[in-house]
Amino acid sequence: MAKPDEPGYYKQEDLLSVDLQPPRTGWMDTEVDFRPGNFIYPGKAKNLQVLDLPNAREWAVTDIDWQLPEAWQKTILDGMAERLGKYRSFKLFMDTCVRCGACADKCHFFIGSGDPKNMPVLRAELLRSIYRKDFTALGKVFGKMAGGRKLTEEVIKEWFYYFYQCTECRRCSVFCPFGIDTAEITMMGRELLGLLGLYVNWVIEPVANCYKFGNHLAIQPHGLVDTLEFMVGDIEEATGIKVDLPINKKGAEILFFTPSGDFVADPGIYTCMAYMVLFHELGIDYTWSTYASDGGNFGLFTSHEMMKRLNAKIYSEAERLGVKWILGGECGHMWRVINQYMDTMNGPADFLEIPKSMVTGTVFERASSTKVVHIMEFLADIIHHGKLKLDP
Ligand code: SF4
Ligand code: SF4
Repeated sequence: MAKPDEPGYYKQEDLLSVDLQPPRTGWMDTEVDFRPGNFIYPGKAKNLQVLDLPNAREWAVTDIDWQLPEAWQKTILDGMAERLGKYRSFKLFMDTCVRCGACADKCHFFIGSGDPKNMPVLRAELLRSIYRKDFTALGKVFGKMAGGRKLTEEVIKEWFYYFYQCTECRRCSVFCPFGIDTAEITMMGRELLGLLGLYVNWVIEPVANCYKFGNHLAIQPHGLVDTLEFMVGDIEEATGIKVDLPINKKGAEILFFTPSGDFVADPGIYTCMAYMVLFHELGIDYTWSTYASDGGNFGLFTSHEMMKRLNAKIYSEAERLGVKWILGGECGHMWRVINQYMDTMNGPADFLEIPKSMVTGTVFERASSTKVVHIMEFLADIIHHGKLKLDP
């Protein structure tokens, strides 16, 4: 019999039949139904300990008692107050939604589950209802009538369930006339849960690995060198060409980094080999790093502080190696961190130069702040200038 984390557990007809009928009870009165296969396993104590995170313990989502710390309500409300003061976007998103519903059917979790609380508008409301009750005059006086509700353990369980059913893709924000970014609300929800030691293991274990080894997959420096050497061998076997493998090379023109998924599995390893072949063909002076060995950043799914901690190695390694600028491989959440946060979190990287292609001379003005260029932008410019012979 297949287990919930195995594909065989799920039947196609069950997955295709989505019941869009909302529950009979109001959303505030509908409790979360944790069933095997519909929740993510909690963060293991050993991973929280590595990261010095609070309330490290072994627990199960199906436990009645989640072993929340003493005075946990105060911890959450203080945490909310701190973040409302610190992040203008959070305050704005808590105050702004007009419940027009334009975002409602834009979330794949709602489309796939039919659960109303997976509509972005209602996902945000899970947090907004607590904000109203404790941070607005109307909510304090009129409570539920003004859309506010008390912070209970049930609310915490609901947050855990629904904030980890958002991939932070931001699709919904594209459709919101006010630009409300539900992904940012999800991030706040997860930060607050984290204050109570409530993480999911698929996020916090890679984060712990990254903190210890520089990458999510816990590849140690010598292991990374071996992995890349294997790829060089495979390329030679397939093409007869032995490509260069510069690692931790001081004074290289660019530092190249990519998500660690590119080191271990299909199709990532083919992407990785393609990077090597491309750089060899163009004669690019670059280097890999065994310290900054992951551009991916699961801190984005954990907290701003964690994202900053994991991202710090990129600029710091660029400075140590004395490169001129940075080139990055493909990874969705890695680029969100780079484009939206890196410069203000760990920059400014004034010791780097504005990226300029050594092949075409193009200056990447768009990257003048981050000093990091996406491989596709770099490659498109090379193709545009006819510097690469392609086999049509
Ligand atoms: S589209 Fe924006 S304003 Fe409309 S319900 Fe969604 S979040 Fe609220
Ligand atoms: S950001 Fe979250 S709520 Fe919005 S569409 Fe993506 S998964 Fe759904």
